[in-house]
Amino acid sequence: MNTTLSTYFFNEANRYIPGGVNSPVRAFKSVAGNPIFIERGLGSKFYDVDKNEYIDYIGSWGPHLLGHNPQFIKEALFEAVENGVSFGTPTELEVKIAKVIIDMVPSIEKVRMVNSGTEATMSAIRLARGFTKKDKIIKFEGCYHGHADSFLIKAGSGALTLGVPTSHGVTINTSKDTLIGDYNNLNTVKNLILKNKDHVAAIIIEPIAGNMGVVPADKSFIKGLRTICDEEDIVLIFDEVMSGFRVAKGGAQELFGIKPDLTTLGKIIGGGLPVGAFGGKKEIMDLVAPSGPVYQAGTLSGNPLAMSAGLAVLNYLKENPGVYKTLEESSSYLANGFKDNLKKIKKNFAFNRVGSMMCMFFTEEKVTDFKTALKSDTLVYGRYFHEMLKKGVYFAPSQFEAIFISTAHTKEDLDKTIKAQDEALSAIYKK
Ligand SMILES: *Cc1c(COP(=O)(O)O)cnc(C)c1O
Repeated sequence: MNTTLSTYFFNEANRYIPGGVNSPVRAFKSVAGNPIFIERGLGSKFYDVDKNEYIDYIGSWGPHLLGHNPQFIKEALFEAVENGVSFGTPTELEVKIAKVIIDMVPSIEKVRMVNSGTEATMSAIRLARGFTKKDKIIKFEGCYHGHADSFLIKAGSGALTLGVPTSHGVTINTSKDTLIGDYNNLNTVKNLILKNKDHVAAIIIEPIAGNMGVVPADKSFIKGLRTICDEEDIVLIFDEVMSGFRVAKGGAQELFGIKPDLTTLGKIIGGGLPVGAFGGKKEIMDLVAPSGPVYQAGTLSGNPLAMSAGLAVLNYLKENPGVYKTLEESSSYLANGFKDNLKKIKKNFAFNRVGSMMCMFFTEEKVTDFKTALKSDTLVYGRYFHEMLKKGVYFAPSQFEAIFISTAHTKEDLDKTIKAQDEALSAIYKK
């Protein structure tokens, strides 16, 4: 595989950009080696600066449910550009996208557009605090909610009940307000609430975790959270930045049949442009400025280009509900191919999948939370990743990410991927 230009650009990038990238996981640090610089994408594939072709399974980390650069999104963008790219005034597009989101996501009655998933979750917890007039939040180990200070916290060791920052620059005082529960473990949540009676404003969760690999929540766990939140006047926030419009038209909440109080969205709703949103119950959302006292703002929020691309995608999904059946069929086909390959090497590796997001862990233990996810042999994952890359299949350059299937992945792509995986696994586990 020729990577001359990618290597050249990465060396250049390192001179001007911290770590050579604008978001850490792109740098291939956890799989070793240098990142590939991509030049263009179309459908299920993208192409690097050295003209190598890859079947892409990251889909820009989630947004490209319909593959790269669909014609109808391009057309929506061209039309928007003709009219001007930003006004800083209300536009009809914003009303349209709000209506579609409310129509599709069961629990959302009002919605505010922002520019990233991070902004959405950060604003949602401020709103939950404003609504409940309480300070603390509960999050779960292994869930990712963007890079706001409040979320860069992990559990303290041993008997310590206080969280500790996972990043330099996050203050101890911030970490005091973030309590950490274990995913799929209701007792840890009950204990935290008991110890912090009347201080917990919100529980935030990825109802289908996609940032420790793919780890779905048990329905009983999600139901339990709903009950606890009702009893204790806690705002339940589903972070559906990844699962929203990915696992179903109405996200994970539609699959579970459970309504959170607030939902955060991103990724797919921007059609590949920088967008996020948070929404939920009217009585809570009406506290957001200017209708209420919880401040939130954005110069480029509701940007016409982003709204046009997002609206095009959401309208498409609304008018073509068959998309989710197609995705399920391709995804189960791929997953079954992977599982057959595992049988050949006599490994019973943990394999989690919800619709078109899936993840294989290099451990035979069942993966149900962060602790079990960490059992995966990440060194082997690194080898696996590079073997696949050499064969023209681009998986996430980290064990703890999902791979995503789009409607653009053809049977030929999937067969090629299954064959490549078979070869990669036998190369790694050869006798
Ligand atoms: C990607 C992601 C975020 C952060 O979104 P950004 O747009 O990267 O800020 C938050 N929560 C979840 C569940 C995500 O997958």
